[in-house]
Amino acid sequence: MEHIKCLIIGSGPAGYTAAIYASRANLNPVLYEGPQAGGQLTTTTEVENFPGYPDGVEPFQMMDDMRRQAERFGTIIRSGIVTKVDFSVSPKRITIEDTEEVEADAVIIATGAAAKYLGLPSEREYKGRGVSACATCDGFFYRKKTVAVVGGGDTACEEAAYLAGLCQKVYLIVRKPYLRASQIMQKRVLETPNIEVLFEHNTLRLTGDGKVQGADLVYRKGETDEREVHIDIDGFFLAIGHHPNSDLFKDYLECEEQGYIKTIAGTPLTNVAGVFAAGDVADPHYRQAITAAASGCKAAIEADKWLKTKGE
Ligand code: NDP
Repeated sequence: MEHIKCLIIGSGPAGYTAAIYASRANLNPVLYEGPQAGGQLTTTTEVENFPGYPDGVEPFQMMDDMRRQAERFGTIIRSGIVTKVDFSVSPKRITIEDTEEVEADAVIIATGAAAKYLGLPSEREYKGRGVSACATCDGFFYRKKTVAVVGGGDTACEEAAYLAGLCQKVYLIVRKPYLRASQIMQKRVLETPNIEVLFEHNTLRLTGDGKVQGADLVYRKGETDEREVHIDIDGFFLAIGHHPNSDLFKDYLECEEQGYIKTIAGTPLTNVAGVFAAGDVADPHYRQAITAAASGCKAAIEADKWLKTKGE
């Protein structure tokens, strides 16, 4: 069985930053990319808030830069999804794609988080046929069409603004009477002429013959002026938040109620010695590329410290 000194799971800013630091510390890291190489960031349009890019940067470019930086110092990057772990043994056992097993002294988990769906039966029915959780990935298919985005946070506003550049019209379906997004994103959305914000609306169902052609919404549910509203749309984009990709580790690691891996405050240390958690999988609050990168750095430093105390 292959023996790895420091194994990193995930290829977002946390995973790549951990890889840069671990390889520079001679930990010979091996990084498994997971299902989405480059992580969640690759589903956004432009990164404007990562220091060092004064003119903004295209997310694929930024992740490619991080990947190359990790490889430059010797990180081995492999495509592949970790499907099972056993943290009860030392070294830890990790299974890739249900077939290959490797062992690792230290493990850095940087598996990020995944988009949430509303849970409507029609949402599942039309998945891939008009329902998407990634405007950057799928917006292209809706050029000059009408789409709806659900959510009132920064992601929803960013996706709506992106889609407004491609589509004829964008509805933003917001369940509250206000947006939760940052002021700058709210302003951008409210000032874009082809975005119509539907405050206090919830989606009841999607309609259409084999693909999304419309949505039935309810306005002010439970109030005296409650009414149903129908909109004609070709695409329905979810932007209502994320849940952490931690299911694989729950038998061994303590997690918060929402699934985020518990770490000792301000550190990437989990309840299992030699297992570290970095980035969105352990961060319900900040969830930024820069905070994820910083926690990846901390995880590699802690892994190095832990390996040295073990005499590895
Ligand atoms: P948020 O949790 O901030 O927002 C989720 C939105 O979805 C809220 O408006 C919420 O409504 C709504 N929502 C949740 N569940 C439902 C539901 N079942 N039905 C209808 N609406 C629902 O998530 P985001 O992904 O927008 O942002 C996550 C974090 O990432 C934030 O801290 C954000 O600032 C940050 N971010 C930063 C960006 C940047 O700086 N460029 C870009 C994108 C995100 P309600 O308000 O009623 O709870």
